[in-house]
Amino acid sequence: MRKIISLGIVLTILIYLLPISIQYINNSTDNNFMQDMLSVHANAQMEDEQTITVSVNGDAEEIGLEDYIAGVVASEISPDFPIEAIKAQAVAARTYAVYKMKAGRSDTHPDADVCDDFHHCAAYKPLTEKVASWGDNAENYENIIMQAVNDTKDLIVTYENKPIIAVFSAASGEMTESAKDVWGSDIPYLTNVESKGGDACSKYKETVSFSLDEFRDIIKKAIPSADLTGKPETWFAASERSAAGGIKTVKLGSVQVTGTDLRETLGLNSTNFTVTTSEDSISFNTIGYGHGVGLSQYGAKYLAEQGKTYDEILTHYYQGTQIKSLTEISE
Ligand SMILES: [Zn+2]
Repeated sequence: MRKIISLGIVLTILIYLLPISIQYINNSTDNNFMQDMLSVHANAQMEDEQTITVSVNGDAEEIGLEDYIAGVVASEISPDFPIEAIKAQAVAARTYAVYKMKAGRSDTHPDADVCDDFHHCAAYKPLTEKVASWGDNAENYENIIMQAVNDTKDLIVTYENKPIIAVFSAASGEMTESAKDVWGSDIPYLTNVESKGGDACSKYKETVSFSLDEFRDIIKKAIPSADLTGKPETWFAASERSAAGGIKTVKLGSVQVTGTDLRETLGLNSTNFTVTTSEDSISFNTIGYGHGVGLSQYGAKYLAEQGKTYDEILTHYYQGTQIKSLTEISE
């Protein structure tokens, strides 16, 4: 589920961003992104800081970087969030794009730096397309998105003078997850931090129930060696939770599985879940929406409502980082 590639002395941990779009909220899971492998070109350089090649519906398009960021922001966060939260999203999106450009292209889209699939890179539609879908609010929302992008032009989040892997999710629990607990990669700026406001997300708490037969069928396909012959209350054992509350590993029918795998198999909103069983059903009660690592979009909304600025929001969620202009960072 994760790949680590050494480039000389630089350890570049290539993980894929799995923002869950607030505007495209759905039940899809976001943990497939670690399965793909980037092929890194040893001398990968940003060919042009002003443009990015984006795979849009499978076709590679050269787009101005800031235009691309506007399209991502419009696709990833609600324009009625506070402006400082939207600015934080803009900087996170730009950071991730720059990171991808520097890291080298994915085998999934070798002809483009990023794609428009939020399961893999970040959601993207041209801003004009989004504006056309906003009806009476179009002008107002367009102005808000453009303000967030223009006010943060060229700014990215850096750690040791390099663009960070600026992952984000819709709503973490009361604490963000660390990259180590979720993906096994120890990334110094993706640690556990307090995160309030997630409960404003409509999917913050959710219960998903399966009939016992349904559940057995799903698990039989995904984890054939799991033994689910006994009573349902005996199926789960020995769970290990992260500091933030997510299931790291759990034994299901005597087979050890990771919380991320189980989340994907069952289509759960997060790995932070409890299980309840009855005679004929099994239910999963989740807290949070998304992988919970890095910036929480609803957490950013909360902090902005408390008067925090976008840079304060970003340096809270990405600990030990600095906001810098693209012109300041080294190649
Ligand atoms: Zn992609």
